[in-house]
Amino acid sequence: MITLFDSAKKQKLPFIPIKEGEIRLYVCGPTVYDDAHLGHARSSIVFDLWRRLFVFLGYKVTFVKNFTDIDDKIIKKALDSRTDVSEITAHYIDSYLRDMDSLGVLRADIEPKATEHLPQMCEMIESLLHKGYAYKGENSDIYLSINKDSHYGSLSHRIEDSHTQSRIQNAQDKLEHNDFALWKGYKGENDIAYDSPFGKGRPGWHIECSAMIEKHLAYQNEEFSIDIHAGGADLLFPHHENEASQTRCATGKEIAKYWLHNGFVNINGEKMSKSLGNSFFIKDALKSYDGEILRNYLLGVHYRLALNFNEEDLLQSKKRLDKIYRLKKRAQENTPNPTHNTESIHSLSSPQSLTQEAKKEFLNPLLEALSDDYNISKALSIIEDMLSQSNEILDKHPKDKKQKQLIMANLACVEFLLGLGGKDAHSYFQLGLSDEKKALIEEQINKRQEAKKAKDYVLADSIRDELKSQGIEIMDTPNGTTWEKI
Ligand SMILES: [Zn+2]
Repeated sequence: MITLFDSAKKQKLPFIPIKEGEIRLYVCGPTVYDDAHLGHARSSIVFDLWRRLFVFLGYKVTFVKNFTDIDDKIIKKALDSRTDVSEITAHYIDSYLRDMDSLGVLRADIEPKATEHLPQMCEMIESLLHKGYAYKGENSDIYLSINKDSHYGSLSHRIEDSHTQSRIQNAQDKLEHNDFALWKGYKGENDIAYDSPFGKGRPGWHIECSAMIEKHLAYQNEEFSIDIHAGGADLLFPHHENEASQTRCATGKEIAKYWLHNGFVNINGEKMSKSLGNSFFIKDALKSYDGEILRNYLLGVHYRLALNFNEEDLLQSKKRLDKIYRLKKRAQENTPNPTHNTESIHSLSSPQSLTQEAKKEFLNPLLEALSDDYNISKALSIIEDMLSQSNEILDKHPKDKKQKQLIMANLACVEFLLGLGGKDAHSYFQLGLSDEKKALIEEQINKRQEAKKAKDYVLADSIRDELKSQGIEIMDTPNGTTWEKI
């Protein structure tokens, strides 16, 4: 049984899907006007982890994450840089996907864009107008009247946010302060516009998610459109509240049965924000750290808590990843290819062979911890125990092939669930070196081999010492000489 903390009910609830064995999950994606920052990374990793768990447990999961490619900030950037809007959005969508690939975040099943869903948005707005929930203002904007929705506020338990509301333009055109724009009429040459049944203009932000959910995911004859709606805690109000309201008024259904929200990222104790100048891009972090090292760090804090980013913690957490790869390297020595099928990790099909091969004493408590509202601390301590015990077994029985296979199956479960440990263990310990440098090291190792053959042990030892002084350790194994960056 999975339990999860539902943001609307503000409590941990048993998860019961709308249809047995199936999960329809929607995550609000980025507005593509800039490169992805640490907050994007964390949110993506959090819901990637939930998705992997659901799949591992055998659910058929449909995962949708959108790209907001119509927005004030995008239009401003296009005007400022005299570039076409579509060029800007295509550039940042590519950059986002590349960054998320580096972090081991699996691509969504469907990645809809706002610009490709104008008919669905217009249809929903028309329905809201027709049913009397929406009205047209004097300046051709169309608003949803929240007073007509008696359940407005039932998600966030808030109905007002002065900061957010103050940013809405043309507020004087609205009947009520909290009414929000479904459609924005064309404002002239510094704006972009699409044709619609309501005249030229563009959709508001909130309507896109409701329309995309109805098109790609929604159940039609159920109480709820989808099982789980997810996103960052900053989206709870007004974005998710407004999404919920529109869908409720337009379709008569609640948009989601459960709501999941991930916590903020603080940088060295302060909330990360562009205005504070302490936000940083993933592409910059990737220059210093491999994506898997960042992922390993970002997933270590419970998804609902704030994560206080600092480099000391990042380096401390790297020890866990080193341990995983150290064990993988040991277990792979002198063993034939492992029998489990790593293909299923990438195709995200249920890993039945893994669950049969892995040790029940490891896997059962691990799944139990993760199924308890993703209790990552408990899960990581279970993994730490498995790593230590496996090393003890290999100390006693260094050549036991059966044990090595069991260890590899346990590690494959960690890879499937957490997205950690999927690299070749040798290359993990060589991370951070350029191909040029690697070639130079290989050249030195070959020279050392030749020196050894010629019984010139003084030269062989001096090459080893020279490499060591550069932070490179050479290991002679029955399969030849390998090396690691220390
Ligand atoms: Zn959304």
